[in-house]
Amino acid sequence: MENSLGFFGKFGGAYVSDNLKTEMQKIQKSYNELKAKQSFISEMKYIRRTYQGRPTPISYAKNLSQEIGGAKIYFKREDLNHTGSHKLNHCIGEVLLAKYMGKKKVIAETGAGQHGVAMATASAYLGIKCDIYMGAKDIVKEKPNVQRMQLLGAKVISVEHGQQSLKEAVDSAFEAYLQDVDNSLYCIGSVVGPHPFPSMIRDYQMIIGEEAKEQMLADTGNLPNAVVACVGGGSNAIGIFSGFINDTQVALYGVEPLGKGTKLGSHAAAVAYGKEGIIHGFKSLVLMDNDGNPAPVYSIASGLDYPSVGPEHAYLHTIKRVKYVQINDEECLEAFYTLPKKEGIIPALESAHAVAYGIKLAKQMSSEKQILINLSGRGDKDIDFVMKKYGLR
Ligand SMILES: *Cc1c(COP(=O)(O)O)cnc(C)c1O
Repeated sequence: MENSLGFFGKFGGAYVSDNLKTEMQKIQKSYNELKAKQSFISEMKYIRRTYQGRPTPISYAKNLSQEIGGAKIYFKREDLNHTGSHKLNHCIGEVLLAKYMGKKKVIAETGAGQHGVAMATASAYLGIKCDIYMGAKDIVKEKPNVQRMQLLGAKVISVEHGQQSLKEAVDSAFEAYLQDVDNSLYCIGSVVGPHPFPSMIRDYQMIIGEEAKEQMLADTGNLPNAVVACVGGGSNAIGIFSGFINDTQVALYGVEPLGKGTKLGSHAAAVAYGKEGIIHGFKSLVLMDNDGNPAPVYSIASGLDYPSVGPEHAYLHTIKRVKYVQINDEECLEAFYTLPKKEGIIPALESAHAVAYGIKLAKQMSSEKQILINLSGRGDKDIDFVMKKYGLR
Protein backbone atom coordinates (compact mmCIF):
# COMPACT_ATOMS: atom_id res chain seq x y z
CA MET A 1 0.00 0.00 0.00
CA GLU A 2 2.90 2.40 0.74
CA ASN A 3 5.71 3.28 -1.66
CA SER A 4 9.38 2.56 -0.98
CA LEU A 5 9.80 5.89 0.86
CA GLY A 6 6.97 5.05 3.22
CA PHE A 7 4.31 7.29 1.67
CA PHE A 8 0.69 6.26 1.88
CA GLY A 9 -0.63 8.63 -0.78
CA LYS A 10 0.69 11.98 0.41
CA PHE A 11 0.99 10.90 4.05
CA GLY A 12 3.92 9.31 5.88
CA GLY A 13 7.56 9.62 4.79
CA ALA A 14 10.53 10.46 7.00
CA TYR A 15 10.83 14.14 7.89
CA VAL A 16 13.99 13.91 9.99
CA SER A 17 17.53 15.30 10.05
CA ASP A 18 20.07 13.80 7.64
CA ASN A 19 21.94 11.69 10.20
CA LEU A 20 18.68 10.32 11.52
CA LYS A 21 17.57 9.59 7.98
CA THR A 22 20.66 7.41 7.57
CA GLU A 23 19.75 5.53 10.75
CA MET A 24 16.13 5.10 9.58
CA GLN A 25 17.46 3.60 6.34
CA LYS A 26 19.60 1.18 8.36
CA ILE A 27 16.55 0.18 10.37
CA GLN A 28 14.58 -0.30 7.16
CA LYS A 29 17.32 -2.46 5.62
CA SER A 30 17.68 -4.62 8.73
CA TYR A 31 13.94 -5.00 9.06
CA ASN A 32 13.60 -6.09 5.43
CA GLU A 33 16.35 -8.69 5.93
CA LEU A 34 14.87 -9.91 9.18
CA LYS A 35 11.29 -10.32 8.00
CA ALA A 36 12.44 -12.47 5.07
CA LYS A 37 14.26 -14.90 7.38
CA GLN A 38 12.55 -18.21 8.07
CA SER A 39 14.23 -18.35 11.51
CA PHE A 40 12.67 -15.00 12.47
CA ILE A 41 9.22 -16.05 11.28
CA SER A 42 9.49 -19.28 13.28
CA GLU A 43 10.73 -17.50 16.40
CA MET A 44 7.89 -14.97 16.23
CA LYS A 45 5.34 -17.77 15.86
CA TYR A 46 6.89 -19.67 18.76
CA ILE A 47 6.86 -16.64 21.08
CA ARG A 48 3.29 -15.77 20.17
CA ARG A 49 2.08 -19.30 20.86
CA THR A 50 4.09 -20.20 23.96
CA TYR A 51 4.52 -16.86 25.74
CA GLN A 52 2.09 -14.27 24.49
CA GLY A 53 -1.07 -16.34 24.42
CA ARG A 54 -1.87 -16.29 20.70
CA PRO A 55 -4.08 -16.95 18.91
CA THR A 56 -6.41 -14.82 21.00
CA PRO A 57 -10.01 -16.06 20.70
CA ILE A 58 -13.08 -14.46 19.22
CA SER A 59 -16.01 -14.33 21.63
CA TYR A 60 -19.65 -14.02 20.59
CA ALA A 61 -21.32 -11.43 22.83
CA LYS A 62 -24.56 -13.36 23.19
CA ASN A 63 -26.20 -11.40 26.00
CA LEU A 64 -25.32 -8.00 24.61
CA SER A 65 -26.45 -8.95 21.10
CA GLN A 66 -29.76 -10.35 22.36
CA GLU A 67 -30.47 -7.24 24.37
CA ILE A 68 -29.77 -4.98 21.40
CA GLY A 69 -31.78 -7.14 19.01
CA GLY A 70 -29.74 -6.01 16.00
CA ALA A 71 -26.53 -7.29 14.45
CA LYS A 72 -24.61 -10.01 16.28
CA ILE A 73 -21.56 -8.67 18.09
CA TYR A 74 -18.23 -10.52 18.23
CA PHE A 75 -15.08 -9.49 20.10
CA LYS A 76 -11.51 -10.14 19.04
CA ARG A 77 -9.95 -10.69 22.45
CA GLU A 78 -6.67 -8.75 22.38
CA ASP A 79 -7.31 -8.12 26.09
CA LEU A 80 -6.16 -11.72 26.60
CA ASN A 81 -2.61 -11.04 25.41
CA HIS A 82 0.09 -11.26 28.07
CA THR A 83 0.28 -7.78 29.71
CA GLY A 84 -3.36 -7.17 28.76
CA SER A 85 -3.36 -5.50 25.35
CA HIS A 86 -2.30 -5.75 21.70
CA LYS A 87 0.86 -3.74 22.44
CA LEU A 88 3.05 -6.80 23.02
CA ASN A 89 2.47 -7.75 19.34
CA HIS A 90 4.77 -4.96 18.19
CA CYS A 91 7.03 -4.67 21.25
CA ILE A 92 8.27 -8.25 20.78
CA GLY A 93 8.93 -7.43 17.12
CA GLU A 94 10.83 -4.24 17.89
CA VAL A 95 13.02 -5.88 20.52
CA LEU A 96 13.82 -8.77 18.16
CA LEU A 97 14.87 -6.19 15.57
CA ALA A 98 17.06 -4.36 18.12
CA LYS A 99 18.84 -7.61 18.92
CA TYR A 100 19.24 -8.49 15.25
CA MET A 101 20.85 -5.07 14.70
CA GLY A 102 23.26 -5.78 17.55
CA LYS A 103 21.92 -3.00 19.78
CA LYS A 104 22.58 -3.12 23.51
CA LYS A 105 19.49 -1.28 24.64
CA VAL A 106 15.96 -0.22 23.69
CA ILE A 107 14.62 3.23 24.51
CA ALA A 108 10.98 4.31 24.67
CA GLU A 109 8.71 6.82 26.32
CA THR A 110 5.41 6.08 27.97
CA GLY A 111 2.42 8.16 29.05
CA ALA A 112 0.07 6.04 31.12
CA GLY A 113 2.67 3.28 31.21
CA GLN A 114 1.08 0.69 28.90
CA HIS A 115 3.71 0.90 26.17
CA GLY A 116 6.42 1.02 28.86
CA VAL A 117 5.16 -2.14 30.54
CA ALA A 118 4.94 -4.03 27.23
CA MET A 119 8.45 -2.86 26.29
CA ALA A 120 9.84 -3.83 29.70
CA THR A 121 8.20 -7.25 29.37
CA ALA A 122 9.53 -7.93 25.86
CA SER A 123 13.00 -6.73 26.96
CA ALA A 124 13.07 -8.98 30.03
CA TYR A 125 11.93 -11.99 28.01
CA LEU A 126 14.44 -11.40 25.21
CA GLY A 127 17.25 -10.26 27.50
CA ILE A 128 18.08 -6.66 26.51
CA LYS A 129 18.36 -3.44 28.54
CA CYS A 130 15.35 -1.14 28.53
CA ASP A 131 15.17 2.59 29.37
CA ILE A 132 11.71 4.12 29.70
CA TYR A 133 11.24 7.90 29.83
CA MET A 134 8.20 9.12 31.68
CA GLY A 135 6.95 12.55 32.77
CA ALA A 136 7.37 13.19 36.50
CA LYS A 137 3.65 13.90 36.82
CA ASP A 138 2.74 10.67 35.07
CA ILE A 139 5.09 8.76 37.37
CA VAL A 140 3.04 9.90 40.36
CA LYS A 141 -0.30 9.29 38.60
CA GLU A 142 0.54 5.85 37.20
CA LYS A 143 2.39 4.33 40.14
CA PRO A 144 1.34 0.67 39.61
CA ASN A 145 2.71 0.69 36.05
CA VAL A 146 5.95 2.35 37.22
CA GLN A 147 6.36 -0.43 39.77
CA ARG A 148 5.61 -3.06 37.11
CA MET A 149 8.31 -1.68 34.81
CA GLN A 150 10.80 -1.59 37.68
CA LEU A 151 9.95 -5.16 38.72
CA LEU A 152 10.54 -6.18 35.11
CA GLY A 153 14.01 -4.71 35.34
CA ALA A 154 13.52 -1.61 33.18
CA LYS A 155 15.04 1.73 34.15
CA VAL A 156 12.31 4.36 34.51
CA ILE A 157 13.72 7.84 33.94
CA SER A 158 11.74 10.76 35.33
CA VAL A 159 11.38 13.73 32.98
CA GLU A 160 11.27 16.88 35.06
CA HIS A 161 10.96 19.74 32.55
CA GLY A 162 7.95 21.53 31.03
CA GLN A 163 4.55 19.95 31.70
CA GLN A 164 6.39 16.82 32.95
CA SER A 165 4.08 14.72 30.79
CA LEU A 166 4.05 12.61 27.60
CA LYS A 167 5.26 15.26 25.17
CA GLU A 168 8.36 16.00 27.28
CA ALA A 169 8.93 12.27 27.71
CA VAL A 170 8.97 11.86 23.90
CA ASP A 171 11.48 14.71 23.61
CA SER A 172 13.77 13.27 26.29
CA ALA A 173 13.61 9.70 24.98
CA PHE A 174 14.42 10.94 21.51
CA GLU A 175 17.33 13.04 22.78
CA ALA A 176 18.76 10.05 24.63
CA TYR A 177 18.43 7.99 21.46
CA LEU A 178 20.24 10.63 19.37
CA GLN A 179 23.12 10.57 21.86
CA ASP A 180 23.54 6.83 21.45
CA VAL A 181 22.18 5.80 18.05
CA ASP A 182 24.88 3.15 17.57
CA ASN A 183 24.02 1.16 20.68
CA SER A 184 20.28 1.69 21.02
CA LEU A 185 16.97 1.41 19.17
CA TYR A 186 14.12 3.84 19.76
CA CYS A 187 10.94 1.79 19.93
CA ILE A 188 7.81 3.62 18.86
CA GLY A 189 4.49 2.60 20.44
CA SER A 190 2.10 2.85 17.51
CA VAL A 191 1.88 3.10 13.70
CA VAL A 192 3.39 6.61 13.83
CA GLY A 193 6.83 8.21 13.49
CA PRO A 194 9.16 8.31 10.47
CA HIS A 195 9.34 5.54 7.86
CA PRO A 196 9.79 2.57 8.36
CA PHE A 197 7.99 2.57 11.74
CA PRO A 198 4.36 2.90 10.51
CA SER A 199 4.86 0.00 8.09
CA MET A 200 6.84 -2.13 10.53
CA ILE A 201 4.42 -1.71 13.45
CA ARG A 202 1.51 -2.50 11.09
CA ASP A 203 3.23 -5.68 9.93
CA TYR A 204 3.65 -6.78 13.55
CA GLN A 205 -0.01 -6.03 14.32
CA MET A 206 -1.43 -7.70 11.19
CA ILE A 207 -1.65 -10.97 13.09
CA ILE A 208 -4.85 -9.63 14.71
CA GLY A 209 -6.64 -9.33 11.37
CA GLU A 210 -5.21 -12.55 9.94
CA GLU A 211 -6.41 -14.58 12.92
CA ALA A 212 -9.76 -12.77 13.08
CA LYS A 213 -10.63 -13.43 9.45
CA GLU A 214 -9.88 -17.13 9.76
CA GLN A 215 -11.76 -17.38 13.07
CA MET A 216 -14.87 -15.57 11.82
CA LEU A 217 -15.03 -17.83 8.77
CA ALA A 218 -14.50 -20.95 10.87
CA ASP A 219 -16.99 -20.01 13.59
CA THR A 220 -19.76 -18.34 11.58
CA GLY A 221 -19.12 -19.32 7.97
CA ASN A 222 -19.06 -15.67 6.99
CA LEU A 223 -16.95 -12.55 7.06
CA PRO A 224 -18.23 -9.86 9.41
CA ASN A 225 -20.30 -7.11 7.79
CA ALA A 226 -18.43 -4.50 9.81
CA VAL A 227 -15.20 -4.27 11.79
CA VAL A 228 -14.81 -1.65 14.53
CA ALA A 229 -11.62 -0.54 16.36
CA CYS A 230 -10.53 2.44 18.44
CA VAL A 231 -7.87 4.76 17.03
CA GLY A 232 -5.18 6.49 19.08
CA GLY A 233 -2.05 6.31 16.95
CA GLY A 234 -3.88 3.52 15.20
CA SER A 235 -1.94 0.27 15.71
CA ASN A 236 -4.70 -2.03 16.95
CA ALA A 237 -7.06 -0.66 14.29
CA ILE A 238 -4.61 -1.13 11.41
CA GLY A 239 -3.87 -4.61 12.75
CA ILE A 240 -7.45 -5.82 12.56
CA PHE A 241 -8.37 -3.79 9.43
CA SER A 242 -5.54 -5.27 7.40
CA GLY A 243 -7.20 -8.70 7.54
CA PHE A 244 -10.25 -7.32 5.73
CA ILE A 245 -8.94 -4.39 3.70
CA ASN A 246 -9.30 -6.23 0.37
CA ASP A 247 -12.75 -7.54 1.23
CA THR A 248 -14.58 -4.42 0.08
CA GLN A 249 -17.94 -5.75 1.29
CA VAL A 250 -16.65 -5.47 4.88
CA ALA A 251 -17.26 -1.96 6.27
CA LEU A 252 -14.40 -0.68 8.44
CA TYR A 253 -14.90 1.84 11.26
CA GLY A 254 -12.13 3.65 13.16
CA VAL A 255 -13.38 5.20 16.39
CA GLU A 256 -11.71 8.42 17.53
CA PRO A 257 -12.06 9.91 21.03
CA LEU A 258 -14.30 12.97 21.17
CA GLY A 259 -13.51 13.53 24.87
CA LYS A 260 -15.60 16.38 26.27
CA GLY A 261 -16.64 17.86 22.94
CA THR A 262 -15.63 19.35 19.59
CA LYS A 263 -13.63 22.33 20.92
CA LEU A 264 -9.88 22.17 20.19
CA GLY A 265 -8.19 20.80 23.33
CA SER A 266 -11.28 18.87 24.47
CA HIS A 267 -10.79 15.83 22.25
CA ALA A 268 -8.19 13.88 20.24
CA ALA A 269 -10.12 13.23 17.01
CA ALA A 270 -7.28 13.94 14.59
CA VAL A 271 -8.91 12.53 11.44
CA ALA A 272 -12.15 14.42 12.01
CA TYR A 273 -10.67 17.78 13.01
CA GLY A 274 -6.98 17.67 12.04
CA LYS A 275 -5.20 19.38 9.17
CA GLU A 276 -2.39 18.17 6.99
CA GLY A 277 0.89 18.71 8.83
CA ILE A 278 4.16 17.21 10.02
CA ILE A 279 4.65 15.81 13.51
CA HIS A 280 7.25 13.45 15.03
CA GLY A 281 8.93 12.88 11.65
CA PHE A 282 5.91 12.02 9.48
CA LYS A 283 3.16 13.76 7.52
CA SER A 284 -0.42 13.13 8.53
CA LEU A 285 -3.56 14.78 9.83
CA VAL A 286 -2.61 16.78 12.92
CA LEU A 287 -4.60 18.72 15.50
CA MET A 288 -2.91 22.13 15.45
CA ASP A 289 -3.33 25.48 17.12
CA ASN A 290 -3.40 28.76 15.16
CA ASP A 291 0.42 28.88 15.09
CA GLY A 292 0.60 25.44 13.48
CA ASN A 293 1.96 23.70 16.60
CA PRO A 294 0.48 20.40 17.80
CA ALA A 295 -2.53 21.30 19.94
CA PRO A 296 -3.15 19.98 23.44
CA VAL A 297 -5.46 16.98 23.28
CA TYR A 298 -7.68 15.17 25.74
CA SER A 299 -9.50 11.86 26.16
CA ILE A 300 -10.69 9.91 29.18
CA ALA A 301 -8.59 7.08 27.69
CA SER A 302 -4.96 8.12 27.99
CA GLY A 303 -3.94 5.62 25.29
CA LEU A 304 -5.97 7.60 22.75
CA ASP A 305 -4.85 11.17 23.44
CA TYR A 306 -2.42 11.70 20.60
CA PRO A 307 -2.67 14.87 18.42
CA SER A 308 -2.27 12.95 15.17
CA VAL A 309 -2.86 9.54 13.66
CA GLY A 310 -0.75 7.03 11.71
CA PRO A 311 -0.25 8.03 8.05
CA GLU A 312 -1.99 4.90 6.75
CA HIS A 313 -5.16 5.96 8.56
CA ALA A 314 -4.98 9.45 7.04
CA TYR A 315 -4.71 7.73 3.65
CA LEU A 316 -7.52 5.21 4.29
CA HIS A 317 -9.69 8.17 5.28
CA THR A 318 -8.84 10.05 2.07
CA ILE A 319 -9.69 7.09 -0.16
CA LYS A 320 -12.79 6.44 1.99
CA ARG A 321 -11.94 2.77 2.66
CA VAL A 322 -12.33 3.33 6.42
CA LYS A 323 -15.00 5.51 8.00
CA TYR A 324 -13.74 7.47 11.01
CA VAL A 325 -16.37 8.14 13.65
CA GLN A 326 -16.32 9.61 17.15
CA ILE A 327 -17.34 8.52 20.63
CA ASN A 328 -17.21 10.90 23.61
CA ASP A 329 -16.19 10.24 27.23
CA GLU A 330 -19.75 9.72 28.45
CA GLU A 331 -20.59 7.17 25.72
CA CYS A 332 -17.30 5.41 26.44
CA LEU A 333 -18.11 5.20 30.15
CA GLU A 334 -21.53 3.73 29.44
CA ALA A 335 -19.89 0.93 27.44
CA PHE A 336 -17.26 0.48 30.17
CA TYR A 337 -20.04 -0.14 32.73
CA THR A 338 -22.23 -2.26 30.42
CA LEU A 339 -19.75 -4.83 29.18
CA PRO A 340 -18.72 -6.34 32.55
CA LYS A 341 -22.37 -6.90 33.55
CA LYS A 342 -23.48 -8.31 30.19
CA GLU A 343 -20.44 -10.32 29.13
CA GLY A 344 -18.10 -10.66 32.10
CA ILE A 345 -15.42 -8.58 30.40
CA ILE A 346 -13.95 -5.33 31.79
CA PRO A 347 -12.68 -3.41 28.74
CA ALA A 348 -9.90 -0.82 28.69
CA LEU A 349 -11.31 2.72 28.38
CA GLU A 350 -9.65 2.85 24.95
CA SER A 351 -11.43 -0.31 23.81
CA ALA A 352 -14.71 0.89 25.35
CA HIS A 353 -14.79 3.55 22.59
CA ALA A 354 -14.95 0.77 19.99
CA VAL A 355 -17.55 -1.11 22.04
CA ALA A 356 -19.73 2.01 22.33
CA TYR A 357 -19.68 2.57 18.58
CA GLY A 358 -20.24 -1.13 17.85
CA ILE A 359 -23.39 -1.06 20.00
CA LYS A 360 -24.67 2.01 18.13
CA LEU A 361 -24.03 0.32 14.82
CA ALA A 362 -25.60 -3.01 15.86
CA LYS A 363 -28.85 -1.21 16.65
CA GLN A 364 -29.09 -0.03 13.03
CA MET A 365 -28.43 -3.47 11.52
CA SER A 366 -30.60 -6.58 11.25
CA SER A 367 -29.93 -9.75 13.22
CA GLU A 368 -28.43 -11.74 10.30
CA LYS A 369 -25.55 -9.24 10.20
CA GLN A 370 -22.31 -9.53 12.17
CA ILE A 371 -20.08 -6.89 13.72
CA LEU A 372 -16.54 -7.65 14.84
CA ILE A 373 -15.13 -5.31 17.51
CA ASN A 374 -11.45 -5.27 18.39
CA LEU A 375 -11.20 -5.42 22.19
CA SER A 376 -7.71 -3.94 22.27
CA GLY A 377 -7.12 -4.30 26.00
CA ARG A 378 -8.45 -5.16 29.44
CA GLY A 379 -9.68 -2.52 31.85
CA ASP A 380 -7.96 -3.52 35.09
CA LYS A 381 -5.64 -0.53 34.74
CA ASP A 382 -8.66 1.83 34.63
CA ILE A 383 -10.76 0.49 37.50
CA ASP A 384 -9.16 2.62 40.22
CA PHE A 385 -9.52 5.83 38.22
CA VAL A 386 -13.11 5.18 37.11
CA MET A 387 -14.30 4.12 40.58
CA LYS A 388 -12.75 7.15 42.29
CA LYS A 389 -14.12 9.61 39.74
CA TYR A 390 -17.49 8.10 38.76
CA GLY A 391 -18.28 5.38 41.33
CA LEU A 392 -20.41 2.29 40.69
CA ARG A 393 -23.19 2.54 38.16
C1 LIG B 1 -2.26 2.03 23.68
C2 LIG B 1 -3.63 1.47 23.54
C3 LIG B 1 -4.50 1.86 22.50
C4 LIG B 1 -4.17 2.93 21.51
O1 LIG B 1 -3.13 2.67 20.64
P1 LIG B 1 -3.34 2.33 19.11
O2 LIG B 1 -1.97 2.43 18.55
O3 LIG B 1 -4.29 3.33 18.52
O4 LIG B 1 -3.90 0.96 19.04
C5 LIG B 1 -5.75 1.25 22.42
N1 LIG B 1 -6.13 0.32 23.31
C6 LIG B 1 -5.32 -0.09 24.32
C7 LIG B 1 -5.82 -1.12 25.26
C8 LIG B 1 -4.05 0.48 24.47
O5 LIG B 1 -3.27 0.08 25.48
